Formats: sequence, structure tokens, C-alpha cells
Amino acid sequence: MVNPREMARTQLAKAARLLDLDESLLACLEHPKSVLTVAIPVRMDDGKVRTFTGYRAQHSNARGPFKGGIRYHPNVTLDEVVALSMWMSWKCAVVDIPFGGGKGGVICDPKRMSRGELERLTRRYTHAIAWIIGPDKDIPAPDVYTNAQVMAWIVDTYSELQGKRSLGVVTGKPVEIGGSLGRDTATARGCIVVARECLTELGIDARKAKVAIQGYGNAGSFAHKFAQEMLGASVVAVSDSTGGIYAERGLDFARVLAHKERTGQVAGLAGTEPITNEQLLELDVELLVPAALEDQINDENASRIRARVVCEAANGPTTPAADEVLFKKGITVVPDVLANAGGVTVSYFEWLQSFNEYPWTEADVNRRLEEKIVRGYRSVREIARERRVDNRTAALVLAVGRVAKALEFQGVWP
Ligand code: NAD
Repeated sequence: MVNPREMARTQLAKAARLLDLDESLLACLEHPKSVLTVAIPVRMDDGKVRTFTGYRAQHSNARGPFKGGIRYHPNVTLDEVVALSMWMSWKCAVVDIPFGGGKGGVICDPKRMSRGELERLTRRYTHAIAWIIGPDKDIPAPDVYTNAQVMAWIVDTYSELQGKRSLGVVTGKPVEIGGSLGRDTATARGCIVVARECLTELGIDARKAKVAIQGYGNAGSFAHKFAQEMLGASVVAVSDSTGGIYAERGLDFARVLAHKERTGQVAGLAGTEPITNEQLLELDVELLVPAALEDQINDENASRIRARVVCEAANGPTTPAADEVLFKKGITVVPDVLANAGGVTVSYFEWLQSFNEYPWTEADVNRRLEEKIVRGYRSVREIARERRVDNRTAALVLAVGRVAKALEFQGVWP
């Protein structure tokens, strides 16, 4: 397993070399501005108190308040949270929204916890980090195994602590309490919009394209919907943590979703063949969408990847070593900081809407999202062509350059 923090450092160093970045600026960007570790005692349903560990990493607020999701997963580590916070800084800069980078995580297994336990965990975690978050300080959002309900508990806890309604403290809220229309589908929509741009540029007819998607949560399931509806492509394989399914003639989104909602997994859908997560990644498809966790395409399997385009809905699914292999093989990677930036873009729209509590229409949200993402894609491609580098390096050159400029103007004080 590659350490995600090392991965993030390697990527940053490469961009810094190309930018000829001042050493002191690089040193500043290598380190998160602050990291908080908290103990979270929670009364479990059996009456015993169990103490969980949680983190909130704040990488950079040079371009705006820290921004980034909260992950609940048994394998959360401090290094992972720090890496994810750094990637958030780059992501917000790639699509040019006025946020910095942050990320939170709690080491827990939400699949083995009751709703009550999850609520108490969330409220106590919020209590512990309340002094460092806020609408103009640091704005969390959902990530792996957290959702709109978790955001609702955070808003309520934070608002109670502040003694006032504070909708801007998180994004990804339920629409009923200030969430934005289109936020739930935004990550996948952005991902499929950039995939469309990329396939078009490569002269691949999306309607004839085969697609494989790893992970079937928020990002992965809606990526299936949009690949089918927007691209007219055939999604031949999908998976989740329990395994995957394959159908040569394509998997219908509504059928897979209904099955997943009924059984809790994609495996076992009638008329499909079982496939492992490893096999899914190596399928001969035009478009591969990793939408689960980090370190999925690495030096072990990179040489066996056959997709023409890898569009990263997940954060950090491809290691730097694998990046080089894919580049040499002529496989185009649309990097996470661009491919999944749709989520934070609509989070930004939600944050804007929360100040005057005036909701935008879904059509408005989607149109503005597409504008931002396509502009980000074109900027990245321009740099990639000019400098003859892969898209990830180009995206980082763009992002790191923007964050470094902001830092330079701010200077050091005191
Ligand atoms: P989610 O909790 O909604 O879904 C996660 C999915 O991944 C589930 O289907 C789960 O079964 C699957 N999964 C977990 N472990 C797996 C494994 N080992 N192999 C295969 N599948 C596995 O999470 P999400 O919000 O969809 O996030 C997925 C990825 O997208 C993460 O990397 C996250 O950081 C990234 N992302 C999410 C958003 C967002 O708005 N939700 C935004 C940007 C990036």
C-alpha cells in the first residue's frame, strides 16, 4: 500500500520542479497548515462508552476557507486525511473556486454501527472540531460513508453551539435544510462531463464506448446513470466493496440501483456474471471510472490496465508509479483533482446559496457546474499540450501555481 501522503508529496514535487517554484514556497505547501486529532467518546447501544479517533486536517486557506469532506472508514489514517486535504487545495484551484483544502476522518466502521451510534459519534466529533470549522473558516462535506444525514447532524450541533442557525458550516446537506439541488449528483456529473470532453478529443464515439465503474456509492452509482444517459455509453461492469458484476450487453442503471437498494450490494443481479474488483479494473473498455478508494491502480496492476481513458471519480486511485506506466502505454488519465471537482464546485454553489437562503434551480446549478468543469478541463489540456506532460502533472502545475501565487501575495506574518 502506497502511503497517500507520500503520493501527494511526489505529485507536488513534480509540479514544483516544472514551475521552478521557490524552495520556501514548496516547503510551505508540503505541510498542512494545521492538523487536529480528537478523541470521540460515544455511548454505544449496549450502554458502554467507546472512544474513537478523529482528525481534521487543514492544508491551505491561501485562496479561501478550508474545504473538504469527512470520511468514516476503519482504515482512515492521519496521513490519508492530510493527503486528501492537500488534494482539496489543488482541486479548488483547478476549477478556480475560492476555497482552500481541508479533510476530516474518523476511524470507525459505520456498517457495524446503528443510526443512533452514528448520530452520537457525529455530534461529538462536531463538538470536538467546532472551534476550527465555520462558514468562513472550514466547511466540511460528505465523503466515503458519510452523507446528507450526517451533514444535517453537523449543522444542527454546530448551530446549537453557536446559538444561531449556521447553514454555511457544511455543504452536501439535505435540500430540505439548505442543501443545493444537484449536489448529490454533482461529483458524478462533473466526472462524466470531463470524460465526454476527453473521449471527444480522442475521437472516441461515446455511444459505442464500453464503461467499467469501481465503487457504487454516491460517485460511482450516479456515474453509471450519467454514462448511460448523457453519453449513451454501455456500462458493462460495476462493483462495490463486496464484489462486482459484468454484462457484455450493458447494465441498466435503474435495475442495478434497485438491486443495490434491495440487497445492499451490486453482486447477485440476475443476468450478470460475477467479477472481482481486480478483474474490473483490467477490462478492455474505453472508459474506466475508479470511484472507490486510493491505491487501486498501482505498480502491481498498471501494466494490465487496458482502458483508453481513466477518469478518476475517486481521490488518489492511481499511484505515481502507475501514472508513469499508464502514460507510457498511451492511456489518458483525467486526474481526480479535475475529474471529481464537480462535487466541490456545487458545494461552493450551495455555500453561496446558504448566505441569502435563495435556492437556485437545478438547471442553473448544472449549467454553471458544466461551465466550470469544462473550463478547468480546457486549462489543464492547454498546459498538458504546451509542456508535453500528462494531465495530472498539468492539473497540478495549474493548481500549485495558483495557490503559490496567493501565498506569495500574502507573505509571512508575524
Ligand atoms: P460512498 O460512501 O457513497 O461510496 C463508496 C463506495 O465504494 C461504496 O459503493 C463502497 O461499497 C465502495 N467501496 C468501498 N471499498 C471498496 C473497495 N475496496 N473496492 C471496491 N469498492 C469499494 O463514497 P463516495 O462519496 O461515492 O466516494 C467515493 C470516492 O469518491 C472517494 O474516493 C471520495 O473521496 C471521492 N469523492 C467523492 C465526492 C462526493 O461528493 N461524494 C467528491 C469528490 C470525490
